[in-house]
Order: sequence, then structure tokens, then C-alpha cells
Amino acid sequence: MPELPEVESIRRVLKNSLINQKLQKYKIFDQRINRFNTVNPRNLGVLLEIYRKGKILQFNFKNNSIFFHLGMSGRLDLNGLKNKHTHGIFFFDEDVLLYDDIRKFGYIKILKNDLANKQFSILGPDALSLSKLDKIFVMNKAKKSSTSIKKFLLNQKNISGLGNIYVNEILFLAGIHPHSLSFKLQDTNWNDIFSYTKKVLKKAIKNNGTTLSDMTFVLPQGVYGNNQNNLYIYAKDKCFSCSNKIDNIFIDSRATYVCKKCQKIIN
Ligand SMILES: [Zn+2]
Repeated sequence: MPELPEVESIRRVLKNSLINQKLQKYKIFDQRINRFNTVNPRNLGVLLEIYRKGKILQFNFKNNSIFFHLGMSGRLDLNGLKNKHTHGIFFFDEDVLLYDDIRKFGYIKILKNDLANKQFSILGPDALSLSKLDKIFVMNKAKKSSTSIKKFLLNQKNISGLGNIYVNEILFLAGIHPHSLSFKLQDTNWNDIFSYTKKVLKKAIKNNGTTLSDMTFVLPQGVYGNNQNNLYIYAKDKCFSCSNKIDNIFIDSRATYVCKKCQKIIN
């Protein structure tokens, strides 16, 4: 599933190509992908900006915004060929943007701008740009939460943008066992989580995101991510730091990798 670094990498490519182009016409073919829209307004005009919060992209026009959530397997493809998994097509002045999605967990949502702000405000603070106040918000929520820290960090209402790969990485680097209960974490644990979150996400963006062996993630012009060569614990057998065997467990049916030597249960 595309997480923050993958969606941010996509945003940067699209921003370079599409900003200031007029959206001439578009069509969303699939009812499931179109499920949140009651109308598909015509004449959206010129694309002014592409924003991102968490894993969601917002294409901002004068009066409306188009939101893209890529779900498990959504792709935004620039000037590629329409295929049987293409569910939306957007004709700009000079470029054509395709929305492809094999599993169809993603969506395209079009809202008037006065409703658009709400779309982002239900998400927790963006994991890439946490202010001091954002960090306090996250820590306060955690103090009231008795779920595991793994599950807490995956909940987009607590903090937005993290998914399974990067939560595995961050908890490993922070030395925290993913089963630790959120309310047990101390300030020093949170300092570690916040600082590694920034490092892990920045490195992943620099590497154009992570393309796993299923090859699902690809940038809009067909380039694959390179961060899979820089992961510490995700899908590994041996600990990077102590060479101990990595345990592969499931939390909330998500693959979770743990080094019992390096990651302690906080209690
Ligand atoms: Zn270890």
C-alpha cells in the first residue's frame, strides 16, 4: 500500500508536470472508485496546486478539489496506456493522467473547496511535518489509548501517513516492541519515535519510495522506488544491528517484524 513517502514522491512528479494546466475533461468509469461522488462537475479549470496530507492527494482548482486515495494498489500514471485496470482518466492541456487500481480499495472524490478542508481535518497531523503542538496532540491521544503502539501509529486519525512498512522500521529503530501498549510509552520513547519517523520518511522520499517484490508501487512516469534496498527490518530474517533472528508475527493481520533483543516491551 502506498504510504506517505510513495504518495509524496508521486506528488512531486505530478506537480512538476501538471500545475497550471487546464483540466479539459475527465471521466471516472468505475462506480466503486467514484463511490463518494454524487455529481462529477464539469469545467474544473486550471490546476492550481497539488497538496498532500498523510496518504491522500488533493488536486486544488479554483472552486473544487479532487482527492485521490490510492488504497492498496492505486497508481497515478502520466501519459501511459489505458488498460483494463484504468478507472479514471484526466485530460489536461498537455498531459493525460490515468488512475489505475487492480484491487479498487482506492477512491477519487470531488468536493467543493469549502467542504474540502474537512476532508483533511479528520486526519491526524501529517507524519512528515510534525510541529511541537502536533507531537503533544499525538502523545496525549496515546496516553488515553490501550491499543498496541503498532496499531496506534497505523491509525490515520492519530497521525497520518504511516503504513505497515514504515511503522515496522520506526519501531525497530526506536527499540520499541510493537506490542507495547500506547499509554505506557514515556516521553523519551516518543522523542525516539518522532525523530526516527522524520529520518525514515525523509530517506524514503529521497529514494522515491519503496517498491516491494510485488512491484505494485511505481511513479507516474514508470520509475520504480529504490527504498526497498534501505529497509532495516521489514521482511528481513536477521537483525541489522545484533544479527539475532527476526520474528515475523501478525498484529491486526499486518505482517510485523521484531527483534526481541533490540525491541523492548515498554511497561
Ligand atoms: Zn537486534
